[in-house]
Amino acid sequence: MKKLLTGNEAIARGAYEAGCLVATAYPGTPSTEILENISSYEEIYSEWSTNEKVALEVGAGASIAGARSLVAMKHVGLNVAADPLFTIAYEGVNGGLIVITADEPGMHSSQNEQDNRLFAPHAKVAMVEPSDSQECKDFVKHAFEISETYDTPVLFKVTTRVCHSKGVVELGERIDVGIKEYVKDTKKYIMVPANSKAKHIEIETDRLPRLREYSNNSPLNRIEWNDKKIGIITSGASYLHAKEVFGDTVSYLKVGFSYPLPDKLFKEFSNEVDKLYVIEENEPYMEQFIKAMGIECIGKEIFSVCGEINPQIIREAMLGEKVEDTHKLDLEVSSRPPALCAGCPHRGIFYALSKHKNKVVVTSDIGCYTLGAMPPLGMGDTVICMGAGITAGIGFDKVNQMADREKKVFGFVGDSTFFHSGMTGLVNAVYNKSNMVVVILDNRITAMTGHQQNPGTGKNISGIEAPMIDIEGLVKAIGVKEENIRVIDPYKMDENINAVKDALQATDPFVIITKQPCALIKDVQKARRGLHCQVNQDKCRKCKTCLRIGCPAISMKDNVVSMDTSLCNGCTVCLQVCPFNAIESFGKEVE
Ligand code: SF4
Ligand code: SF4
Ligand code: SF4
Repeated sequence: MKKLLTGNEAIARGAYEAGCLVATAYPGTPSTEILENISSYEEIYSEWSTNEKVALEVGAGASIAGARSLVAMKHVGLNVAADPLFTIAYEGVNGGLIVITADEPGMHSSQNEQDNRLFAPHAKVAMVEPSDSQECKDFVKHAFEISETYDTPVLFKVTTRVCHSKGVVELGERIDVGIKEYVKDTKKYIMVPANSKAKHIEIETDRLPRLREYSNNSPLNRIEWNDKKIGIITSGASYLHAKEVFGDTVSYLKVGFSYPLPDKLFKEFSNEVDKLYVIEENEPYMEQFIKAMGIECIGKEIFSVCGEINPQIIREAMLGEKVEDTHKLDLEVSSRPPALCAGCPHRGIFYALSKHKNKVVVTSDIGCYTLGAMPPLGMGDTVICMGAGITAGIGFDKVNQMADREKKVFGFVGDSTFFHSGMTGLVNAVYNKSNMVVVILDNRITAMTGHQQNPGTGKNISGIEAPMIDIEGLVKAIGVKEENIRVIDPYKMDENINAVKDALQATDPFVIITKQPCALIKDVQKARRGLHCQVNQDKCRKCKTCLRIGCPAISMKDNVVSMDTSLCNGCTVCLQVCPFNAIESFGKEVE
C-alpha cells in the first residue's frame, strides 16, 4: 500500500515497521511530529522526556536492555544530549539505537544554524542522511540493522525540508524483532577509564574501518551515471534540488550513509567525471574530506554555508542563470511582526515589568516569552538556549553587583523549560546566593512547539492522565524562601504589579509563578469564546496606553481605538491599564 507522508511521519512508520519498541524525544521544530506520530503505534512505548539528554539516556538504557530504540530531537537538542552521546558511542548497543537530529538550515525557528553532521566524526558514530519520505522510512530500518551489526548508535540526520515535505511512501509490515537477551558485560557498559581506553582503541581499529568498508559498499550510497562532463556529490534535500535543476544530464554520487564517508567511492566517481561539484547545505562536511583526499572539487566557493539550498541557488551558482520569480502576487502581504497572541497570559507580567524598564535586565529563554522582547513591551536583553533564562541571569546579577549597578535581573522561563533545564539553574541560583528574580510562566503546555504535554500538565504524550509535578512545591524544595515566592494570576494586573514590586526589593532569590493556560489551548478557546472587550468611544481620550501592551487585537485607525472581537478573548489586561475606564468587558466564560 502507498501513502502520502511527510518525512517525520515516514520516520515514525519506519520505526513501527522496523520493530522499534521504545521512542523518546523532547519536542522541537522540525522534529516534533516524529514522536507525535510514533505515539499512535501502541506497540511502541513513547514518551516526551524532560529534555534531550534524558531522552537519549532513556533510549540508551532501553537499547542496552535489548529493545530497538529511537530518540528524536532538533539540532540544538543534540548539544544537550552530547554528554551521553559520546559515551554511548563507546558502549555501543544491544538493541539498535537511532538518534535523530533534525537540523534547521535557514533557522526558521531556531537560535542557530549548526550542521550536526559534524557530531558523527566527533562522537565516532555511524550516520545516515535520507533525502525524501520513502528514504526516511527505509533508512530507519537500515539504521537499526547498521546499529546492531556494527555495535554503534546511528545518527539519523534530517533537515526541515526532509521532515516537512510530503512524498509517496510504499508501506510495509511490522517485523517483530522482539527484545534481545541482556547479558551483563561490565567491560562494555561501564565506562570507567580502563574500559573506555580499550573501547576507544576498539572503535578506531575495528568499528570505524568496518564501517568505512560498509560505506563504500552500502546501498545507501549510490552512483547515478549520466553524462560525465559534470559530476555532483550531494546528500539530503540537496540531492533533490540538484536533480530538479539537472535531471539526468549530469552524474551523481548520492550519499545516504555519510559517516564514515565512502572514500573509495569518491575516488572512483571523481576519476570518471570532468568537473566535480559538491552540493551540501551549511558546512563543507563532504567537501573538506574530498579535498583532503587530494581530489579537486568546487563547493563552498560558489555555495554559501548560510541558509538552505534550493534549485534557484544551484541554477545561479553553477549555470549563472538568474531566475525570475514567476509566482509574483498582485497583493502585498502585510508584514506581521512577531508578538504575543491576543489574550496571551504572559502579557500582564511583561507590561507590569515594563514600568520599571530602566531598573531591570531581562534574561529570557526559548519559548513564547521570547516575544516579550518585541516592541512595544521590549522586555528582553538576552536569549541563549533552553534554561539560560535563569543561568545567564545569575551571571548577569553577579557582575551587576560587582559593578555596583542598581539593575535587578529578571530571568524568564516557561513551565516546560523549567522542567527541561530550568530547575538546575534555580538550584544554582539558590546555592550560589543569587539576587535575581526567576519568573516561571506556567501556561500549562509546551506552547511554541505546538502544545505538547509536559510533566506539569497532568497528561502524557497520548493525552492519558499522568502525575502532575507541582512547580511551586519544587521551587520550595529547591530552597527558595516561602516569603519570596508569589503564585499569581497574570490576567490580574494588581497581582502582576505587586509581585514585581516585591521582587524588586528582594535581596534573595525570588520566584514569581504566573498561572494561566495558553490562550490557544482548544479548551481555553472554547471556554473564553464568549468573552471580549470593547472601547467605549465616548470615554476614550486617545491616550494610547492600551496600545502599549502590544495586543494584536487592539488597533488605532483614523484616530479611533478599537478591538478586533474575533481575536480578543476578553483577558481584560487592556481594560485594567486604561486610565479613563473607557474599556468594557462583555460575555461570560463558558463552563
Ligand atoms: S481583552 Fe484586551 S488585551 Fe485582552 S485580548 Fe482583548 S483586546 Fe487584547
Ligand atoms: S501560543 Fe499561547 S503562550 Fe504562546 S504567545 Fe500565544 S497565547 Fe501566549
Ligand atoms: S487606554 Fe483607554 S482611553 Fe486610552 S486609548 Fe485606550 S481605550 Fe482610549
